[in-house]
Amino acid sequence: MKAIQVETFGGPEVLQLRKVGSREPEEKQVKIQVEAIGVNPVDTYIRSGVYPAQPDLPYIPGFDAAGIVTAAGSAVRKFKTGDRVYNFKSLSGCYAEAIVCTEDQVYRLPDNIDFTAGAALGVPYSTAFYALNYRAHAMPGETVLIHGASGGVGLAAVQIAGSKGMQVIGTAGTEQGIELIKKQGAFAALNHNEENYLAAVDELTFGDGVDLILEMLANVNLGNDLKLLSRFGRVVVIGSRGSIEIDPRESMGKNSTIMGMSLFNTTQAQLTQIHAAIYAGLSRGRYHPVIHSQLPLAKAAEAHELVMQAGVNGKIVLIP
Ligand code: NAP
Repeated sequence: MKAIQVETFGGPEVLQLRKVGSREPEEKQVKIQVEAIGVNPVDTYIRSGVYPAQPDLPYIPGFDAAGIVTAAGSAVRKFKTGDRVYNFKSLSGCYAEAIVCTEDQVYRLPDNIDFTAGAALGVPYSTAFYALNYRAHAMPGETVLIHGASGGVGLAAVQIAGSKGMQVIGTAGTEQGIELIKKQGAFAALNHNEENYLAAVDELTFGDGVDLILEMLANVNLGNDLKLLSRFGRVVVIGSRGSIEIDPRESMGKNSTIMGMSLFNTTQAQLTQIHAAIYAGLSRGRYHPVIHSQLPLAKAAEAHELVMQAGVNGKIVLIP
């Protein structure tokens, strides 16, 4: 089968299309014919060799895909040949025509969701759901600032928070991003490339500040976030690409909380719950993955350039 293989860590050019052997599923494993692959920023960190947990070389990148089950091991209970599914993590790497996963890494795709949208679920929707519900214990009626709402995780968070009855304020860096966030349910959208864009938050929250911030670029925003929080407010650090100096005093008077998160810290039980909720949200029409562009698998290097560019609203998907 064809797959993208990384033989040495480096720039996007190390993503090479190769013919590789395709493995068969063991007892509790499922083989999937891949129809679409989700590209995530973490794929680029791992490819470049800077991520703390690195795979052995050579490896096939990617955590997210969607497709059709073509074989199931003898002890697999939940899936059979022909099922439409998506996955989060795999045993073989997702930038490929076929993947093998454990049964627990695979989730059913609702009939109303196509494969391209299915490839946008694994990392982005689980991250948004975990941040809101498991880290922040977000409640209906609370105000959430999604600081970086126009990307894969941010748009999922706008939909999940909105459908749970939260007041959503989102930020984006372009006019198209602003429009998109509003269309997805945010009651206000601010441009993080404009000066003083955060001044509006005071008025939008009647002077109370926001209860919760989901932060996609903490190394730029964390200092300001602490000023925007309400009393007992909390910030979940989802993304950060460097360091920042903050004034801890900003958090004292408000009893505010800064919490980190990694999707890789979720337990299997949490993932099962999270994907059950995602299935419900998708099949009831509350969640709609937003796709920015689809590229052939051979253009994985271009996809890695694109996913790190500003102003790319929604997901980049590779088609094998
Ligand atoms: P993405 O699709 O590339 O989106 C990036 C987002 O950041 C866009 O909305 C972008 O807006 C926004 N952004 C750019 N400049 C910003 C600024 N100054 N302030 C606030 N936001 C800004 O990436 P993603 O998949 O949504 O992931 C977002 C971040 O979370 C990445 O750093 C990723 O590595 C991380 N992440 C972490 C976990 C975890 O487990 N902790 C899981 C998934 C993702 P514009 O393009 O409109 O400017």
